[in-house]
Amino acid sequence: MHITLSGKRALVTGGNSGIGAGIVSALADAGARVAVNYVTHPEAAQELVRRVQAGKGEALAIQADVSDPAAVAGMFQQIDRAWGGIDILVNSAGIDGPRAPAWEADLAAWRKVIEVNLLGAFACAQQALRRMVPQAHGVIVNISSVHEEIAWSGYSAYTASKAGLGMMTKTLAQEAAPHGVRVLSVAPGAIKTPINQAVWSDPASLHDLLEKIPLNRLGEPDDIARMVVVLVSDAASYMTGRTVFVDGGMTDYPDFAHGG
Ligand code: NAD
Repeated sequence: MHITLSGKRALVTGGNSGIGAGIVSALADAGARVAVNYVTHPEAAQELVRRVQAGKGEALAIQADVSDPAAVAGMFQQIDRAWGGIDILVNSAGIDGPRAPAWEADLAAWRKVIEVNLLGAFACAQQALRRMVPQAHGVIVNISSVHEEIAWSGYSAYTASKAGLGMMTKTLAQEAAPHGVRVLSVAPGAIKTPINQAVWSDPASLHDLLEKIPLNRLGEPDDIARMVVVLVSDAASYMTGRTVFVDGGMTDYPDFAHGG
């Protein structure tokens, strides 16, 4: 099966780093035009754009804080001006926030995680749907997490935001399906990116993490990006409203391999 996204107009939030950057490259390789959203490190976004253009693709970098609805609206207007609309949105921007049990958590930090991961994804989805519903086609993929399902002590804002993303995905999918628009989530397991560098760069932490992954390796951004390319393509035209876990088996709870 050959997948092409030729002519499609895509936006990847948090597209200048980690999983988002992998998705930008994969979408561009499949022929899509890609807008690379970033909030910091413009040079990383520009470098990605240069690489896409060097491969004869089309890309542009757009600065916007996804937790700011006015900035999000401005970003979509920029895409309208450049390409006349949008066919694919990937919400990858996310933060995990500082680690703290609930009784010590800083409320402002807690709120920020929700505002970036959940409100930010909603604000982008809302803008995308305002364009996709009238044109009667389009796909939105939210990058969730295994922590949509697995509790994670010290990160209640992160887990709540990702569980919220899962239900938001189902609800937006139900709303949009009659209009020919699909909404899905992808839940990565442990993927080697800057967000978890402290874990994979420390041998003891890495060993502990690998024990939780039946396939016994960290994922790479491309493991997620390939799945996203499939989901936004017509190969997945009968899928909507679900979270696809791409986690090396992490949600298979490997501790139970030894009894339970
Ligand atoms: P990353 O830190 O490399 O990328 C996160 C991106 O989001 C960065 O580009 C960052 O600048 C951007 N961002 C943060 N706040 C933003 C804001 N307010 N507006 C716009 N962009 C903003 O980390 P990553 O691992 O690539 O994470 C990407 C997504 O994948 C996140 O949603 C994360 O929760 C999710 N995820 C990652 C893993 C993993 O193991 N790496 C696992 C599960 C889920």
